[in-house]
Amino acid sequence: MDTVRRIPELRAAVAGARRAGRPIGVAPTMGALHAGHDALIEAARRDGCFTVVTIFVNPTQFAPHEDFDRYPRDEPADLRRCAAAGADLVFLPALADMYRPDAVTTVRVAKLADHLCGPFRPGHFDGVATIVAKLFLLVQPDRAYFGEKDAQQLAIIRRMTRDLDFPIEIVGCPTVREPDGLAMSSRNRYLSAADRARAAALHRALCAGRDAVAAGEQAADGVIAIMTGVLHAADVRDIDYASVVDPETIQNVDVICAPVLLAIAARVGAARLIDNMRATPPRA
Ligand code: AMP
Repeated sequence: MDTVRRIPELRAAVAGARRAGRPIGVAPTMGALHAGHDALIEAARRDGCFTVVTIFVNPTQFAPHEDFDRYPRDEPADLRRCAAAGADLVFLPALADMYRPDAVTTVRVAKLADHLCGPFRPGHFDGVATIVAKLFLLVQPDRAYFGEKDAQQLAIIRRMTRDLDFPIEIVGCPTVREPDGLAMSSRNRYLSAADRARAAALHRALCAGRDAVAAGEQAADGVIAIMTGVLHAADVRDIDYASVVDPETIQNVDVICAPVLLAIAARVGAARLIDNMRATPPRA
């Protein structure tokens, strides 16, 4: 596994793999890697890709009040993890190489960013879309691997890729969970032991919502009440949203007659956690 920090080195390493006839796969990350990230790397490997992992804590996707400064960073552990998962190349750019001081260009995917996390994280998805577009242009991958854990992000990246005609296949990878169902996240390490136990309620709430949809509940309000009830029962009360949305457009659904995405964001202790699950009505 090679590690590169500068853009010309990245381009040279990827060009070498391309000349050797390998498809190029990229998994963009912010580091603090866990088994969820491993799954993206392993999926790229399984697809036969020369597998590039990018590790960059992207400042433009953090709002001023958010956790950019305390976001976990552990480069040696991340590099060990990438090697173990089978990455071929890790790109660790410096901030100054990714953003020139006078950069003024932003990629904005309208509408899909207006709901769910959008209103709670001003500028977040613009930061995500801009850095992912930049990484796509730097790496020029054939495939790019993203987690379904960040379903709104995945929908936004799919739409950006389509709208801008990036010749890249976007591959969504299933959410990797802890044994009690909690979605793995770099931010789980902010949780105290008591908060860690409460955090599993997000997954239970989604399962209850999914089961209600599968049993024929068509009213989104009914499903939202079920999910909220499970969260409250676990004393998770600081809920940003518990929503039923269209998986592609991320717009609210009122009457469920096709597969939907159930999505929750809640603050549990020091962590803001998100999770989601697909739900399918009986006759869809
Ligand atoms: P992050 O480092 O949190 O920005 O995440 C980098 C990529 O890993 C994104 O595509 C995430 O959706 C994905 N990811 C994070 N957590 C998980 C998980 N538990 N399961 C699957 N993919 C994940």
